[in-house]
Amino acid sequence: MLNSVTHVRFAGGGMVLPVGDPYGRQFLVEHIGGCLRKNGGLEVEFRDERWRVRPIDGYCARCGAPLRAGGCSTHRNREPWCIYCAFGTVSQGARQRRLQS
Ligand SMILES: [Zn+2]
Repeated sequence: MLNSVTHVRFAGGGMVLPVGDPYGRQFLVEHIGGCLRKNGGLEVEFRDERWRVRPIDGYCARCGAPLRAGGCSTHRNREPWCIYCAFGTVSQGARQRRLQS
């Protein structure tokens, strides 16, 4: 059950979200996007990694999407990923790539 919830933290608050199914993952990505717009940056504990999420000038190392809407990095993964590659489902990432190309 450890991997079925994730912790989202931002300045002044935070929450625990269930991410055990695709709906949970989709909600997580949308929630992170909303938090970024309101708070400018946050931390997400997801699958035993602590991700720093903030707007970055650059492009996702995995899918090439611009990271102005949120780039995600960990201490192990210094090449930032977009929020879809980091937290979304495979189909969300594919949809994002189609929209970008
Ligand atoms: Zn990406």
